Amino acid sequence: MPRPPDTNIGVQVKRIRLMLVLLLALANASAYSAKLITCAAPGVNVYSYEAEDGDLACQAVGSTLAFMKSMGFHVDTRFTIELVDHPLRLHGSEVTGTYDSRHLYIEVPNFSQAQRVAGRHAPFGMFMSHEIWQSFIAHEVAHAVAQANFRLAKPGLAAHEYIAYVVQLATLPKETSEELLERFDNSPFRHERQINRVFLELDPEVFAVKAYRHYLAQPDPSEFFQRLLNRNLSSPR
Ligand SMILES: [Zn+2]
Repeated sequence: MPRPPDTNIGVQVKRIRLMLVLLLALANASAYSAKLITCAAPGVNVYSYEAEDGDLACQAVGSTLAFMKSMGFHVDTRFTIELVDHPLRLHGSEVTGTYDSRHLYIEVPNFSQAQRVAGRHAPFGMFMSHEIWQSFIAHEVAHAVAQANFRLAKPGLAAHEYIAYVVQLATLPKETSEELLERFDNSPFRHERQINRVFLELDPEVFAVKAYRHYLAQPDPSEFFQRLLNRNLSSPR
Protein backbone atom coordinates (compact mmCIF):
# COMPACT_ATOMS: atom_id res chain seq x y z
CA MET A 1 0.00 0.00 0.00
CA PRO A 2 1.40 3.38 -0.95
CA ARG A 3 2.22 5.63 1.98
CA PRO A 4 0.15 8.75 2.43
CA PRO A 5 1.97 11.68 0.79
CA ASP A 6 2.58 13.61 4.06
CA THR A 7 4.65 10.69 5.51
CA ASN A 8 6.71 10.69 2.33
CA ILE A 9 7.58 14.33 2.85
CA GLY A 10 8.44 13.52 6.47
CA VAL A 11 10.89 10.82 5.34
CA GLN A 12 12.42 13.15 2.78
CA VAL A 13 12.92 15.89 5.36
CA LYS A 14 14.56 13.34 7.64
CA ARG A 15 16.85 12.22 4.80
CA ILE A 16 17.82 15.81 4.02
CA ARG A 17 18.50 16.44 7.70
CA LEU A 18 20.66 13.33 7.89
CA MET A 19 22.58 14.41 4.79
CA LEU A 20 23.17 17.85 6.30
CA VAL A 21 24.43 16.30 9.53
CA LEU A 22 26.79 14.07 7.52
CA LEU A 23 28.03 17.02 5.45
CA LEU A 24 28.65 19.06 8.60
CA ALA A 25 30.47 16.12 10.18
CA LEU A 26 32.68 15.84 7.07
CA ALA A 27 33.40 19.57 7.08
CA ASN A 28 34.38 19.43 10.74
CA ALA A 29 36.44 16.27 10.33
CA SER A 30 39.15 18.23 8.48
CA ALA A 31 39.38 20.76 11.35
CA TYR A 32 39.82 18.00 13.87
CA SER A 33 42.50 16.15 11.95
CA ALA A 34 44.99 19.02 12.39
CA LYS A 35 47.59 17.83 14.89
CA LEU A 36 48.37 19.79 18.02
CA ILE A 37 52.04 20.58 18.42
CA THR A 38 53.36 22.06 21.64
CA CYS A 39 56.22 24.46 20.94
CA ALA A 40 59.25 24.73 23.23
CA ALA A 41 58.08 28.26 24.15
CA PRO A 42 55.75 27.83 27.15
CA GLY A 43 52.07 28.41 26.40
CA VAL A 44 52.45 28.30 22.62
CA ASN A 45 50.48 25.69 20.71
CA VAL A 46 50.33 25.08 16.99
CA TYR A 47 47.63 23.23 15.08
CA SER A 48 49.02 21.85 11.86
CA TYR A 49 48.12 19.18 9.30
CA GLU A 50 51.76 18.70 8.32
CA ALA A 51 54.39 17.89 10.93
CA GLU A 52 57.06 19.83 9.02
CA ASP A 53 54.95 23.01 8.94
CA GLY A 54 54.37 22.66 12.68
CA ASP A 55 58.10 22.35 13.41
CA LEU A 56 58.91 25.32 11.18
CA ALA A 57 56.20 27.36 12.91
CA CYS A 58 57.60 26.57 16.38
CA GLN A 59 61.06 27.49 15.09
CA ALA A 60 59.68 30.83 13.85
CA VAL A 61 58.02 31.42 17.25
CA GLY A 62 61.34 30.71 18.99
CA SER A 63 63.37 33.16 16.90
CA THR A 64 60.62 35.82 17.08
CA LEU A 65 60.41 35.64 20.87
CA ALA A 66 64.22 35.68 21.18
CA PHE A 67 64.45 38.78 18.98
CA MET A 68 61.64 40.59 20.80
CA LYS A 69 63.18 39.74 24.17
CA SER A 70 66.48 41.23 22.99
CA MET A 71 64.48 44.39 22.16
CA GLY A 72 63.11 44.67 25.69
CA PHE A 73 59.67 43.06 25.23
CA HIS A 74 58.25 40.71 27.84
CA VAL A 75 57.73 37.54 25.88
CA ASP A 76 55.73 35.33 28.23
CA THR A 77 52.58 35.73 26.09
CA ARG A 78 50.44 32.63 25.54
CA PHE A 79 48.78 32.10 22.19
CA THR A 80 47.67 29.49 19.68
CA ILE A 81 48.57 29.32 16.01
CA GLU A 82 46.51 27.44 13.46
CA LEU A 83 48.11 26.70 10.11
CA VAL A 84 45.04 26.67 7.92
CA ASP A 85 44.62 24.89 4.63
CA HIS A 86 42.70 27.67 2.93
CA PRO A 87 43.30 31.26 1.86
CA LEU A 88 42.72 33.98 4.49
CA ARG A 89 40.81 37.16 3.85
CA LEU A 90 40.37 40.27 5.97
CA HIS A 91 38.18 43.24 4.99
CA GLY A 92 37.91 41.85 1.48
CA SER A 93 41.60 41.34 0.72
CA GLU A 94 43.79 38.29 0.93
CA VAL A 95 46.16 38.36 3.91
CA THR A 96 49.13 36.24 5.02
CA GLY A 97 47.89 35.92 8.58
CA THR A 98 45.38 37.12 11.13
CA TYR A 99 45.56 37.69 14.86
CA ASP A 100 42.46 37.57 17.01
CA SER A 101 43.43 39.63 20.05
CA ARG A 102 40.41 38.54 22.09
CA HIS A 103 41.11 34.86 21.81
CA LEU A 104 44.91 35.10 21.43
CA TYR A 105 44.49 33.11 18.24
CA ILE A 106 46.66 33.37 15.16
CA GLU A 107 45.81 31.95 11.76
CA VAL A 108 48.39 31.65 9.00
CA PRO A 109 47.97 29.74 5.71
CA ASN A 110 50.02 26.54 5.74
CA PHE A 111 53.10 26.40 3.52
CA SER A 112 51.37 24.89 0.49
CA GLN A 113 48.62 27.55 0.73
CA ALA A 114 51.32 30.22 1.09
CA GLN A 115 52.83 29.02 -2.20
CA ARG A 116 49.44 29.55 -3.80
CA VAL A 117 49.18 33.00 -2.19
CA ALA A 118 52.55 33.85 -3.76
CA GLY A 119 51.22 32.73 -7.14
CA ARG A 120 48.53 35.41 -6.87
CA HIS A 121 50.72 38.09 -5.27
CA ALA A 122 54.31 37.40 -4.29
CA PRO A 123 54.82 38.96 -0.82
CA PHE A 124 57.48 41.68 -1.15
CA GLY A 125 58.05 40.32 -4.68
CA MET A 126 59.92 37.39 -3.14
CA PHE A 127 59.91 33.74 -4.12
CA MET A 128 57.95 31.76 -1.52
CA SER A 129 60.44 29.97 0.70
CA HIS A 130 60.17 28.52 4.19
CA GLU A 131 61.91 31.66 5.48
CA ILE A 132 59.38 34.02 3.89
CA TRP A 133 56.54 31.82 5.14
CA GLN A 134 58.01 31.82 8.65
CA SER A 135 58.09 35.62 8.51
CA PHE A 136 54.26 35.59 8.26
CA ILE A 137 54.23 33.76 11.58
CA ALA A 138 56.77 36.20 13.05
CA HIS A 139 54.48 39.09 12.04
CA GLU A 140 51.41 37.68 13.82
CA VAL A 141 53.40 36.57 16.88
CA ALA A 142 54.77 40.11 17.10
CA HIS A 143 51.17 41.41 17.26
CA ALA A 144 50.39 39.02 20.12
CA VAL A 145 53.53 39.96 22.07
CA ALA A 146 53.09 43.68 21.37
CA GLN A 147 49.51 43.56 22.63
CA ALA A 148 50.72 42.26 26.00
CA ASN A 149 53.42 44.96 26.15
CA PHE A 150 51.46 48.08 25.23
CA ARG A 151 50.94 50.45 28.13
CA LEU A 152 48.38 52.45 26.16
CA ALA A 153 44.61 52.21 26.44
CA LYS A 154 44.20 52.14 22.67
CA PRO A 155 47.39 51.47 20.74
CA GLY A 156 47.21 52.83 17.20
CA LEU A 157 47.18 50.50 14.21
CA ALA A 158 50.30 52.11 12.72
CA ALA A 159 52.31 51.48 15.91
CA HIS A 160 51.11 47.87 16.00
CA GLU A 161 52.04 47.33 12.35
CA TYR A 162 55.40 49.09 12.73
CA ILE A 163 56.32 46.56 15.41
CA ALA A 164 54.92 43.56 13.49
CA TYR A 165 56.65 44.45 10.21
CA VAL A 166 59.98 45.31 11.81
CA VAL A 167 59.95 42.00 13.67
CA GLN A 168 58.93 40.20 10.47
CA LEU A 169 61.84 41.60 8.46
CA ALA A 170 64.39 41.61 11.28
CA THR A 171 63.93 37.87 11.92
CA LEU A 172 64.58 36.93 8.27
CA PRO A 173 67.99 35.44 7.49
CA LYS A 174 70.38 38.29 6.57
CA GLU A 175 70.69 37.31 2.88
CA THR A 176 66.90 37.11 2.52
CA SER A 177 66.25 40.50 4.10
CA GLU A 178 69.01 42.04 1.95
CA GLU A 179 67.47 40.55 -1.19
CA LEU A 180 64.08 41.88 -0.13
CA LEU A 181 65.38 45.39 0.57
CA GLU A 182 67.04 45.50 -2.85
CA ARG A 183 63.58 45.35 -4.41
CA PHE A 184 62.48 48.61 -2.75
CA ASP A 185 64.06 52.02 -3.13
CA ASN A 186 61.86 53.64 -0.47
CA SER A 187 63.61 55.75 2.13
CA PRO A 188 63.13 55.13 5.86
CA PHE A 189 60.51 57.00 7.85
CA ARG A 190 62.19 60.31 8.70
CA HIS A 191 59.84 61.31 11.47
CA GLU A 192 57.47 59.35 13.67
CA ARG A 193 54.59 61.44 12.28
CA GLN A 194 55.10 59.50 9.04
CA ILE A 195 54.36 56.23 10.84
CA ASN A 196 50.65 56.55 10.19
CA ARG A 197 47.62 54.79 8.75
CA VAL A 198 47.78 56.68 5.45
CA PHE A 199 51.18 55.19 4.59
CA LEU A 200 50.05 51.82 5.92
CA GLU A 201 46.90 51.67 3.84
CA LEU A 202 48.56 53.07 0.73
CA ASP A 203 50.95 50.13 0.49
CA PRO A 204 51.61 47.87 3.50
CA GLU A 205 54.81 46.44 1.96
CA VAL A 206 56.28 49.91 1.40
CA PHE A 207 55.23 50.80 4.97
CA ALA A 208 57.06 47.66 6.14
CA VAL A 209 60.26 48.54 4.30
CA LYS A 210 60.18 52.18 5.49
CA ALA A 211 59.62 50.95 9.05
CA TYR A 212 62.43 48.41 8.86
CA ARG A 213 64.88 50.98 7.46
CA HIS A 214 63.80 53.40 10.21
CA TYR A 215 64.49 50.67 12.78
CA LEU A 216 67.92 49.98 11.22
CA ALA A 217 68.77 53.67 11.51
CA GLN A 218 67.98 53.83 15.25
CA PRO A 219 71.02 54.15 17.53
CA ASP A 220 69.05 52.13 20.10
CA PRO A 221 66.02 50.44 18.50
CA SER A 222 64.81 49.02 21.83
CA GLU A 223 64.36 52.61 23.01
CA PHE A 224 62.10 53.36 20.05
CA PHE A 225 60.07 50.21 20.70
CA GLN A 226 59.56 51.34 24.30
CA ARG A 227 58.50 54.75 23.03
CA LEU A 228 55.87 53.09 20.82
CA LEU A 229 54.63 50.94 23.68
CA ASN A 230 54.32 53.78 26.18
CA ARG A 231 53.18 56.86 24.27
CA ASN A 232 50.93 57.53 21.30
CA LEU A 233 52.65 58.54 18.09
CA SER A 234 52.43 62.23 17.16
CA SER A 235 49.57 62.77 14.73
CA PRO A 236 50.42 63.37 11.08
CA ARG A 237 50.37 67.02 10.00
ZN1 LIG B 1 49.81 43.09 11.02
